[in-house]
Amino acid sequence: MNAIEVNGLTYRYDNGMEAIKDISLTIPAGAKVALLGPNGAGKSTLLHHLNGLKVPNEGSIHVMGELLTKKTAPAIRHRVGLVFQDPDDQVFSGTVWEDVAFGPRNLKMSEEEIEDICTAALGNVGMLEHKDTPPYHLSFGQKKRVAIAGVLAMKPDIIILDEPMAFLDPVGQDDIAGLLQGWNYMGRTILLSTHDVNFAASWADMVVLLKDGKLLATRGIELLVKEDIIREANLHLPIIARLFRMIPELAPNGLPKNEQEAARLLFDLLQERK
Ligand code: ADP
Repeated sequence: MNAIEVNGLTYRYDNGMEAIKDISLTIPAGAKVALLGPNGAGKSTLLHHLNGLKVPNEGSIHVMGELLTKKTAPAIRHRVGLVFQDPDDQVFSGTVWEDVAFGPRNLKMSEEEIEDICTAALGNVGMLEHKDTPPYHLSFGQKKRVAIAGVLAMKPDIIILDEPMAFLDPVGQDDIAGLLQGWNYMGRTILLSTHDVNFAASWADMVVLLKDGKLLATRGIELLVKEDIIREANLHLPIIARLFRMIPELAPNGLPKNEQEAARLLFDLLQERK
């Protein structure tokens, strides 16, 4: 089963700006996908299509087998949670609790169900103790967690995050990385945009590169050490790959993409020496 199928997607903004140009893409259910590309590449525009915030000008999108149209978009939005880059675009209720309860309440869930779901979602992001706080009293990172809890409360099959690590401190980034891992273990498909090739190389199992609204390439994380494509996408190699590139004898069969691969390589070398 594919979570998302995009076929020949083209999208023009009202001013005629063609932000997405004939993109086709398949994302299997359960995948961890990193979407990378320079600013203005069309990442946000593409992500906004995948949960039905935008509908294609040309081409088609299927989400969990269902064709996205203006009519099916509201139902698709319940299955695909989108965490915006800026939590101020998403978190607007009087208290943290009310914000997370907003979606479930719209779905006409019972108060008992809402209580359970909001407790679990806020607990999951470590924000339960702030449940009575007005969001404008929170830090950026805390608001981001509330935005994530609001998405979790809708129990989506697919979670999309627009630059989730941006402006977070290192511990905040680690917390988000832990959450992403946990949701994936529970079988959810996760798609995020990022500029962080190191994070993409250690977390993702699929990489999508965009540039100027076009799909440059899509493959496994081995794409992140293909120097010509990486340069074309205005990215750089993961830092581990850069390190091993300085001593090619250490990696005769290709550069490691992340810490795990590098550790295995060094371990094997040490074993050979014994
Ligand atoms: P990214 O997320 O990769 O930075 P975006 O999807 O935000 O890229 O933008 C893709 C292109 O669409 C850019 O050239 C941007 O200026 C343009 N764009 C984005 N939003 C709008 C809008 N509301 N109206 C007109 N053009 C837009």
